[in-house]
Amino acid sequence: ARLANQIAAGEVVERPASVVKELVENSIDAGATRIDIDIEKGGSRLIRIRDNGKGIAKDELGLALSRHATSKIASLDDLEAIVSLGFRGEALASISSVSRLTLTSCTEGQTEAWSAYAEGRDMDVQLKPAAHPIGTTLEVLDLFFNTPARRKFLRTEKTEFTHIDELIKRIALSRFDVAITLRHNGKLVRQYRIADNPLQQERRLAAACGPAFLQHALVVELAHGDLKLSGWICSPQGARSQNDIQYCYVNGRMMKDKLINHAIRQAYESSLRSEQYAAYVLYIEVDPHQVDVNVHPAKHEVRFHQARLVHDFIYQALQSALQQGAS
Ligand code: ADP
Ligand code: MG
Repeated sequence: ARLANQIAAGEVVERPASVVKELVENSIDAGATRIDIDIEKGGSRLIRIRDNGKGIAKDELGLALSRHATSKIASLDDLEAIVSLGFRGEALASISSVSRLTLTSCTEGQTEAWSAYAEGRDMDVQLKPAAHPIGTTLEVLDLFFNTPARRKFLRTEKTEFTHIDELIKRIALSRFDVAITLRHNGKLVRQYRIADNPLQQERRLAAACGPAFLQHALVVELAHGDLKLSGWICSPQGARSQNDIQYCYVNGRMMKDKLINHAIRQAYESSLRSEQYAAYVLYIEVDPHQVDVNVHPAKHEVRFHQARLVHDFIYQALQSALQQGAS
């Protein structure tokens, strides 16, 4: 089983940022409103994620670390309309097979917190009483300590941390209702506060994308039946310098989708006569039954059942936002 986990780890765990992604998604799935992330040495020494989610009960701690133990798919219907981010039940097993992992958690119904420790190929999970408020802390030490080939592929501390910072930025832009802090080697690098009004949301946008993006941002907000588009698109003048900021979310999931991309570029082209630059942070909400999400973790693609309709809706919404910004 351990070997299977290590093979699976190759798919899920490519670098420290992929570990952070899985763990933060778990925290979000657990309903956390606050997530604190501590990184040391670009994540190769330590990745610690602490949340205030619902926690994991003592008798489920060992199970959470075993492969295909997911608490998130209850029926086939769930599979067709996946709402939780994680649904494969192999992240923790994979990560623990290539690191020294400690899982500490406390649920509402418990008077005491418990800690589970797993290390590399050693499958015996040890449970110990611990001190922890309701919620969960995942501590991943010495990533790839037992897979030297993969450890060798890690880039510099700075590069690995940049990947983590970028990932957290994407997540921060998708969940304004979750407070997130990010520390590297003990230093606070990002602080995303809960943003539940437009002003605070713009503050978070500026914290993530920089003040220049906000300065050039045009607000987008449009609905058509079940379809909703909101967010910000950079004015023509701003798009040039902000060209690297291109974030699109479909039902809360980050996507890089050809159809959406095409609609955005066309909108820029029609109002600018240039599709060279584009900068945006956009949110598309659509009935989950109207869209297929590729279940492969590395692919960020969607398939809309009514592709033409979605394309034209996005195109028209952005075109009118850009035109209003230009006048
Ligand atoms: P998946 O997320 O695909 O279900 P994981 O391996 O990522 O699989 O996690 C296994 C299980 O451990 C989850 O289904 C969940 O029940 C539990 N779990 C993991 N992280 C957390 C967390 N931060 N808070 C609460 N439960 C968690
Ligand atoms: Mg998960």
